[in-house]
Amino acid sequence: MKGKIINIQHYSLHDGPGIRTTVFFKGCPLKCLWCHNPESINYKDDLMYQRNNCTLCKRCLNVCENDALKLQGEQIIIDKSKCKSCFSCVENCYFEALYKKGQDYTEDEILKEILKDEVFYEQSSGGVTFSGGEALMQDEFLLEVLKKCKEKNINTAIDTCGFVDFSKLQKTLNYCDIYLFDIKHMDSKIHKEITNVPNELILENLKKLSSLKANINIRLPLIKDINDDDKNISKLIEFLKTINFNKINILPYHKMGQDKYEKLNMNARNFEAPDMNRLNLIKSKLEIFNKEVKIGG
Ligand code: SF4
Ligand code: SF4
Repeated sequence: MKGKIINIQHYSLHDGPGIRTTVFFKGCPLKCLWCHNPESINYKDDLMYQRNNCTLCKRCLNVCENDALKLQGEQIIIDKSKCKSCFSCVENCYFEALYKKGQDYTEDEILKEILKDEVFYEQSSGGVTFSGGEALMQDEFLLEVLKKCKEKNINTAIDTCGFVDFSKLQKTLNYCDIYLFDIKHMDSKIHKEITNVPNELILENLKKLSSLKANINIRLPLIKDINDDDKNISKLIEFLKTINFNKINILPYHKMGQDKYEKLNMNARNFEAPDMNRLNLIKSKLEIFNKEVKIGG
């Protein structure tokens, strides 16, 4: 079996406890307007373009049989509607200005990468986190990797948007130590506007996971004027009263990842993080649960 991966990040400090290796899966059922990993949204490989590497040699224009590339000013433009993802332009770009995002790994190849950091896991009570995209979109592959990690006694976490059939989450229960569960908005209509999907399934899955005594860390991406208003925070608090969780991580919006939109020929939207006063106020409101609330991952 093979999984499609966009990146394996070693020595990660923000994706669960301790020092972790984060494996980013490709493919996501959501399309959050502020997504930091837009190259993870599609399951299929993406063609990306790094302007700084391009010498404007035009070799790629000659090899593309689908007329999907054109020179516009001082850069190459990709017409996604014409691109057939053959990647012959990538093979013929000697300067790595055009490149493919998405790589197939077997379970053993992923495990080998994860084991490179084993010594850090022992020292820091860390482990591996499966993120994305949405790792549970490739649930069978994920399950096999989780099993292999548990055979090696490695702590495992899944960072999930929660928009999956519950059966997929349930299958991981015996092999996942921590769920990093994102909540993006409590109003389903607004949730759909900002992520492309409603939130009922997500909240239902979180409740079910909690009832099965899973270890859950809540993660709240906070974006100014999108989900940091009093009404949303009050609804969130009411919801959190109905479930069990360990801690809350408030994740203020950041602009890292903006350059990826350019590389994918996509338009990035402009967002801001709530200011520090607002973040601290929300943090203090969430502290009523007597659980750790941290600003940051
Ligand atoms: S082949 Fe590569 S370096 Fe040459 S124009 Fe195309 S993208 Fe730029
Ligand atoms: S991947 Fe293939 S179809 Fe797409 S731009 Fe490159 S050569 Fe053309």
